Amino acid sequence: MLAPIFNNNFNNNYKKQINRFRPSFGYRLSGKIYTDIRDIPHLKCGCCGDDTFTSDGIKKFLDTFAADSRSVLKNRVLDRFRDTEAFKFIQTLSDEQPKKTVREILNSGEGQEKIRALDPRMQLAIMQIGIYTDGISVTAPKVIKKLQKYYSNFGRDLQEIFHLMEFYSIKYPDKTFAEIFREPDVANYHAKVFELTANDASARKINIFKQLRDLSSTLSVKDKKLLQKTNTDAMVILNNGLYQSHINKALIEDMYAKFADECSDKTAGAKIMEIIQDLPFQTSSPDRFITSCVRERKSDMSIIEMFVREMQATYEHFKAKSMGGQDEQDNIIVLCKKCNNERSNLPYPFFLRFHPEMKINLQKQIDKIMTFIMHGRLKDYDNYPIGIRDNVKSNTDNEIILNINKYLKFREEKAEKSLESSKAILARDEALYQEAQQRIREIDAQLETLMSELRVLKKQKRNAEDEFAVITAARDASKSLVDEQTSILDKIKQIVSKNS
Ligand SMILES: [Zn+2]
Repeated sequence: MLAPIFNNNFNNNYKKQINRFRPSFGYRLSGKIYTDIRDIPHLKCGCCGDDTFTSDGIKKFLDTFAADSRSVLKNRVLDRFRDTEAFKFIQTLSDEQPKKTVREILNSGEGQEKIRALDPRMQLAIMQIGIYTDGISVTAPKVIKKLQKYYSNFGRDLQEIFHLMEFYSIKYPDKTFAEIFREPDVANYHAKVFELTANDASARKINIFKQLRDLSSTLSVKDKKLLQKTNTDAMVILNNGLYQSHINKALIEDMYAKFADECSDKTAGAKIMEIIQDLPFQTSSPDRFITSCVRERKSDMSIIEMFVREMQATYEHFKAKSMGGQDEQDNIIVLCKKCNNERSNLPYPFFLRFHPEMKINLQKQIDKIMTFIMHGRLKDYDNYPIGIRDNVKSNTDNEIILNINKYLKFREEKAEKSLESSKAILARDEALYQEAQQRIREIDAQLETLMSELRVLKKQKRNAEDEFAVITAARDASKSLVDEQTSILDKIKQIVSKNS
């Protein structure tokens, strides 16, 4: 019998390999080093204190709203493709794997292979349908169930919209939100209410500014001018839609309170404060939301994304860019998008009136960031705590003074430690220096001894040479004496032989 090709051993090894390359989300990677404070896991918003999502986390979360291909292909958004060849092709693939998303099916190896075999026009048509299916979510009740957990993370306006969506999810349990909003009954109703509300708001606005103008005729020239200027400023705020309702209200009330304070006619000032209470501060309503979703043909996913994005960790320029704030590190904190939008470019002393909790939550955020820096888990942020503390202090008129003592102490200890180790190195080098100097001294001493010995030897040599010279002279003298006497002896011998 043949052994199975994929035996258990092979399978286990294969799984191990796959696991090694699988990216991990949702839990802390031990020792991971971050280079951007927005990526710190579970960093809480510096304003509301809610948990924030990293941009990766947002994408992952959004993916969980994607519907399987079986339900997606029933969605009315795709009605206009229903009779095409491309749609039927996708339908066939979906029948084989109904639980997978259309995107998963199209991107699978098998799907890709089948698509490549088709003619280019057909491929294009399939891709187009694919893009539409990306925008289709699970049905409304499932969306509500998933988002419910994050209800408190939504801004006031979105909470109101969420209530209405909850209602519709019960009324149309089999549909998605984009489908529900496009139901003729729903779309027409909200378009009508939105129009009526908008008309009512603009009528109210006209009426109130008329009352203010009428009242100004009783004022002094100076006060009249001041009121006209205040009216213009208030109108700009109401019309630009930059701030949320409660902010608009506070800003406009402040303006008229300042006018009332400076106005010489106190009765008129008080009257004006009463009149402006009726201004339409409301900047958005569920009707407006639904109407714009229908008008802009928003997909389910982009509707859901509006809620999910509220929780994304975003950079907040503490000193607003519009006020000359820089893109630099020490001007940046992390806020959830909800709070970031609410703050807009408002000065912090004003914004803090609505969010006194920010004092505590920003401190918590800086505490966590400091912990990451101190454990070497956040790169290149060494000067951040000091920089942001100074920036926060000056831009909140000393209302928020961050406590970074723990970090300063850490820096101090670190500096002390490196001083200590430098000192140790210096001590070691000093010892080596002394040692080397000692050795030179020893060699010098040895050299001295040798030199004096040399001097003695040289003297001895000179004496020996002198003696040699004397001996040489004596020897030479003796030698010539011998020579002389030898020749005398020879002469005598010659004479003796001649006479014999
Ligand atoms: Zn927040």
